[in-house]
Amino acid sequence: MPQASKPNFEAAKKILTAYLENKGLRKTPERFAILEEIYTREDHFDVDELYISMKNKRYRVSRATVYNTLDVLVDCDLVTKHQFGKNLAQFEKSYGNKQHDHLICTDCHKVMEFCDPRIQSIQNMVGEMLNFSVLHHSLIFYGNCTKENCQNRKEHEEVAVGHEIRE
Ligand SMILES: [Zn+2]
Ligand SMILES: [Zn+2]
Repeated sequence: MPQASKPNFEAAKKILTAYLENKGLRKTPERFAILEEIYTREDHFDVDELYISMKNKRYRVSRATVYNTLDVLVDCDLVTKHQFGKNLAQFEKSYGNKQHDHLICTDCHKVMEFCDPRIQSIQNMVGEMLNFSVLHHSLIFYGNCTKENCQNRKEHEEVAVGHEIRE
């Protein structure tokens, strides 16, 4: 099992503790277990993926607790919530995660990341020009994988092979 990046997880734990105390919410072990699981992951995930991976590791958490903890973590900026075009919201850890934007393959729905400091410069410049204090932005490039190893293409091949065998 990959370990959560220790310094980031420790810092995130402190932020969550302070937030819960401040709001008078309970500091349950489930909430911290969910935080740790998120900080162990490197990907973007939806609520069910997180719930299932915790279940597979034999954590006893309910789906409702996962939902509710994600809300808390988004609220205290430890997790970023994305709406990537599908109806399902996707999440990723945010503390210590470098600023980045996303590309989404419309065939296989794979989410990729890129980091370009020019995006930040544009944000600053536009804010200055229009006397607007920009808090954050959302930028997504949609398109198709052109790489040989596109997940979608692989799945298509498997389906095609499966058909031949059955017929
Ligand atoms: Zn693809
Ligand atoms: Zn991301």
